[in-house]
Amino acid sequence: RTRLACLTSGGDSAGMNAAVRAVVKMAIARGCEAYVVREGWEGLVRGNEESSHVPTDNATSPPLAGAPVDVNAPQRKGGFVATYGEGELLKEGEGEQTLKGRYIIRVGWDDVRGFASIGGTLIGTARCAAFREIEGRRKAALNLVRHGIDALVVCGGDGSLTGADRLRAEWPEHIQALLESGDISQEQYDTYKHLNIVGLVGSIDNDMAGTDMTIGATTALHRICDAVDSISSTASSHSRAFVIEVMGRHCGWLALMAAIATGADYMFIPERPPTAEDWQSSMCKVLSRHRDEGKRKTIVIIAEGAHDCNLNPITPDMVKDVLSNRLGLDTRVTTLGHTQRGGNPVAYDRILATLQGAEAVEAVLASTPNTPSPVIGIQENKITRQPLMDAVAKTQEVAKAIERKDFEGALGLRDPEFED
Ligand code: ADP
Repeated sequence: RTRLACLTSGGDSAGMNAAVRAVVKMAIARGCEAYVVREGWEGLVRGNEESSHVPTDNATSPPLAGAPVDVNAPQRKGGFVATYGEGELLKEGEGEQTLKGRYIIRVGWDDVRGFASIGGTLIGTARCAAFREIEGRRKAALNLVRHGIDALVVCGGDGSLTGADRLRAEWPEHIQALLESGDISQEQYDTYKHLNIVGLVGSIDNDMAGTDMTIGATTALHRICDAVDSISSTASSHSRAFVIEVMGRHCGWLALMAAIATGADYMFIPERPPTAEDWQSSMCKVLSRHRDEGKRKTIVIIAEGAHDCNLNPITPDMVKDVLSNRLGLDTRVTTLGHTQRGGNPVAYDRILATLQGAEAVEAVLASTPNTPSPVIGIQENKITRQPLMDAVAKTQEVAKAIERKDFEGALGLRDPEFED
């Protein structure tokens, strides 16, 4: 039986819980054993401490690392094979204590109940420096083999998925080294020769090449629109200008869509930078025209990674100074910050994560040692699979294209059908 683990890594995004829930439930429905890894790659590198507390109730305790699963163990509600601690992951105080020192956890159907509507990631996420090094990834490989896990679904951004791709590419090397060092037996080596990895893109920036939408982007956009609407009331009342900074270092999707959805007056995104010499004048021309037409408010949306065409940063304070000094507008800066990430996922993110989570399990089950690791996407409303490495490589190329000032190229890489 496939033992499938799911983890969330990198920056959290709304819908990650819905993805975990879908993966766990689909895995169980397809006859796999389901695990979650807490705290992203960090949890996989750490594994379960020997001395960590294991619940003593036989009916609900998880199988010990590598131990065969007792399929005759009492079944829980829902009729699925032994789960451990109904909803334990959700019961914060108690759960945290019980889970101390344990990162790789067997889960059942009930453990993920109610996950779909909750923001962030309940199984935790982290940035893990150790996983960037080969030694860290080797520890992760050892922990996977120790727990008998042969398939991994990773939900994260391009960094997390780059890590996933590396782990899979190095897998033969890792288990060979673990065999030679005596950390795993010949039998384990023979059984776990192949690791299956599938990626799900959890990112609020909608910055992954080859997919129309990432899990969490729609919710973040929704939060931004709510915030801009609120700010607009004050802006109109006082006839003020607001410069609103939104997230997006290399990708202006949030800023662009928020500007369209809220009818902003002007925006700055990294992919379509203004001239270095006279961006101030161009902006002032548009904004004063809007004022002349009788608008009482001025809204400028600026992506975190905004710059001019020579890559000199354009910051909200710079824009504010121009609006105050040249146009004489009473101008305020609002940085939306982490409010954009938080809160319950909107319906679209729950649905996207659920469909993609289910597809990830199907992809695991369809995979052979020769199939490249896939990443699950969506294109023209159809859930897709494509090679993980291609999507990650193209996404990294976008950032590099922007760095060499090839802005058209960047947009073309993200969407091959892009035409100016
Ligand atoms: P995101 O997944 O949201 O893009 P990060 O870029 O911070 O977030 O990546 C999350 C984690 O993924 C990192 O803390 C690290 O553990 C792992 N990771 C990122 N890049 C790499 C890489 N090049 N090689 C191995 N692991 C990586």
